[in-house]
Amino acid sequence: MAEKVNFNIDKDKNFSEWFTDIIQKAELADLRYNIKGFLVFQPWSVLAMEKMYALLEKILQKKNHKPYWFPTLIPESNLKKESSHIGGFTPEVFWVTKGGEKELDEKYALRPTSETAFYQMFSLWLRSYKDLPFKTYQRANIFRYDTKATRPFLRSREFHWIETHCAHASEEDALQQVDEDMETTQQFLHDQLGIPFIFFERPVWDKFPGAHRTFAADVLNPDGKVIQQPSTHLISQQFSKAFDVKFKDKDEKEKLAWMTCYGPAISRIFASVIIMHGDNKGLKFPWKIAPVQVVIVPVNDNKELQREAEKIKKQLQDEDIVVEIDSSEKSFGEKLFFWEMKGVPFRIELGMKELKENKATVFRRDTNKKESAKLTEVAQYIRKNAVKYDDNLIAKADALFKNKLASAKSKDELKKIIDDGKIARVGFCSVNKEGEKCAEFIEKNIQAEVRGTRLDEKKKDMEKCLICNKKANHIVYVARSY
Ligand SMILES: [Zn+2]
Repeated sequence: MAEKVNFNIDKDKNFSEWFTDIIQKAELADLRYNIKGFLVFQPWSVLAMEKMYALLEKILQKKNHKPYWFPTLIPESNLKKESSHIGGFTPEVFWVTKGGEKELDEKYALRPTSETAFYQMFSLWLRSYKDLPFKTYQRANIFRYDTKATRPFLRSREFHWIETHCAHASEEDALQQVDEDMETTQQFLHDQLGIPFIFFERPVWDKFPGAHRTFAADVLNPDGKVIQQPSTHLISQQFSKAFDVKFKDKDEKEKLAWMTCYGPAISRIFASVIIMHGDNKGLKFPWKIAPVQVVIVPVNDNKELQREAEKIKKQLQDEDIVVEIDSSEKSFGEKLFFWEMKGVPFRIELGMKELKENKATVFRRDTNKKESAKLTEVAQYIRKNAVKYDDNLIAKADALFKNKLASAKSKDELKKIIDDGKIARVGFCSVNKEGEKCAEFIEKNIQAEVRGTRLDEKKKDMEKCLICNKKANHIVYVARSY
């Protein structure tokens, strides 16, 4: 039983191996389920992701989004109503074609995203400008027959997310919703989970199928590749037309609603949590989502120590802190390695020496250092330092992101910046169809992608497109991605 767990893979040198290995060692997911691209999420990740859901839903509800549970199945006719949407999703849809032995009259899609389910109902629910803005969300699992190589948490064929769907009276209101979604991303990803990101408006060729404009948060990995995290979309009015989502405006005229949607994928954000904070010892959970926040490890099974451990446990539980005592058969040393690998924020070590001195030794996973706290004041110590712990994680993550943007004035410079694991800033002819050729050139020759433009870009210091030399109408950012 007492298997020695001493996780030690150099994350910076062998990132891929580190990622796959920690998922299995820390028992986050079992990858042996017998359908390709599907995984079994285990308690250590589910407990954290449940907390992530709770945090995000709290933010959304504060902003007046109401929760719904929609059916998992969407009739093919719904999906077909808007042609660019079905065009974009068809290759990725899992279809249900039979009920028992009977062929169904109509195919049903396992939802690849739920616009066409929500809008169907919006058309029945919305009547007047007084109903708007209409803000909904649901937590759901999503199915996509992704043909790219799958990677646990980052890209699998079933994933877990929240999708918000909103209807607005004007384009201006809809764009305000996009701003609010970006603010939500900042509050959730950065301020609570310590994940820095940049929002880009995606070029036309990289928009969500059926979107008028797409904005997406890119998170930088330590290996220099970016991961797309939540995106928010101003949906094309083709959708309101196709689904007949209309409302009577103040001027008594019937108008098409403006729709927005936002899709933070909890399982994918969880991957960024692992990647952003983990180190060569293993995981490092932000305080608010740690499955266990404090673990108490008595040096041995001495009765007195056990009693004291129980007392501390009670003290912490009274403060609503999730705490566990490790009374397993592992050796004391093995226990220490094990809980560091599992990413528990605070570990309390308890021996006779501590008891005599009336204080506990506390190991902090943020600094990997030991401190001490009075036995009767462990709860206060933890409460106070939990805030510092998160601040430390955030500061460290922010520091990683700094100096990762660099301007490129030539193709060679562009290649060097990308090879160095950074995001390049370049002059670019067009983010509309005309610019796609230049983007393809970058993809083919530098194996990197045009991620888009920044809304907060102020300087216009690039006059020519780095690729075709025509006038630069934009400054775009280029990176490698997952
Ligand atoms: Zn160009």
